[in-house]
Amino acid sequence: MQVNWRQIHAARNSFAVLYAACEREGFTLNPAKGPDRDVTCYSLTSISALRYRDEIAGADCRTIVGGPHASACPREVAAYADYVVVGEGEFTLPRLLADIRNGGKGRIPGVMTGDFYEPADTSVRLDAYPAFSEHKGYIEISRGCPFSCGYCQTPRIFGHGMRHRSIDAIARYAERHEQSRFVTPNALAYGSDGIHPRFDRVEQLLKRCPHQIFFGTFPSEVRPEFICGESLDLINRYCANTKLHFGAQSGSDDILRQLHRGHTTADVIHGVELCKEYALTPIVDFIVGFPFETDEDQRATLDLIRWVARFGKVHVHRFIPLPGTPLAGTNARPLLTETEKTCGELALRGNLTGSWNDLEIRFLRHPSNDIP
Ligand code: SF4
Repeated sequence: MQVNWRQIHAARNSFAVLYAACEREGFTLNPAKGPDRDVTCYSLTSISALRYRDEIAGADCRTIVGGPHASACPREVAAYADYVVVGEGEFTLPRLLADIRNGGKGRIPGVMTGDFYEPADTSVRLDAYPAFSEHKGYIEISRGCPFSCGYCQTPRIFGHGMRHRSIDAIARYAERHEQSRFVTPNALAYGSDGIHPRFDRVEQLLKRCPHQIFFGTFPSEVRPEFICGESLDLINRYCANTKLHFGAQSGSDDILRQLHRGHTTADVIHGVELCKEYALTPIVDFIVGFPFETDEDQRATLDLIRWVARFGKVHVHRFIPLPGTPLAGTNARPLLTETEKTCGELALRGNLTGSWNDLEIRFLRHPSNDIP
């Protein structure tokens, strides 16, 4: 049975992880630029789903769809795909492939088909699966998040308990390449419950990793309240990065409370100040256009954006009501003229990146219709 993996740039790390998990069970995921016999697998976000829906619906082979969008709205995806993997794929995807190969109907836990669904009966232990094999990926060191930010799919897919890959396993993967980057919702929460830092464990991890380590910067980030002298000292001592990436999301404490972010704007300001002190460039994320954001809230966010941009870089994104989150089904509020103007000016100066335009302008009308 030939099994293909539809190449989608945004899903390249999922490919590395699932390639390795399937390989162990005797299946090779063949990278493909379109659906092909016998089975083609897709991993979709809620943005890329718009592009691939028709391709999947018209595919002349069996199709398996997973990823955050499929996990958030499996019924919608099951209307055009043969099988939907709901949740984590490392155990479920090879199990589903084996079932298809053996002539089964894919009626296994964690898979939705047109007339069947049973939730997964497993939770992935990171050490039980390779981070990657021949296709290099980022090393996922932690999964799950104890927070419940209203716009975020992560805890809804992976749960609120943090699971960590062991230091031995991470060090083994870090040894294979000159540079390693990590996947985690909060790099500085390594070894902890995600709320109470365990910097002793972070240090044990960093000490064991050979070569160049990038920690708390792309593709991972940190939470602002985890930034302190002790944590920045560890990054400066053991890591190669000169930048630290963290989420502020809003300059209004009211909005942060409504989002259940679990930190304040004072934590963000303190984080930026400390980055300056420790010679790290802060890269700070903001979201504009929350449905309950007042003009005053948006101006407070703009003020914070302008202030952060004096010392570092800002990523600004327009709010997207992702399925499966508490804010699903709401609408982004319009941006103030001054927000568009300030973002544009800072972008021209090289202090700001992101996509603060309307979703329709950004994705639906763009020729490539894909996310970077
Ligand atoms: S945005 Fe970050 S901290 Fe908030 S729920 Fe998502 S992963 Fe957790």
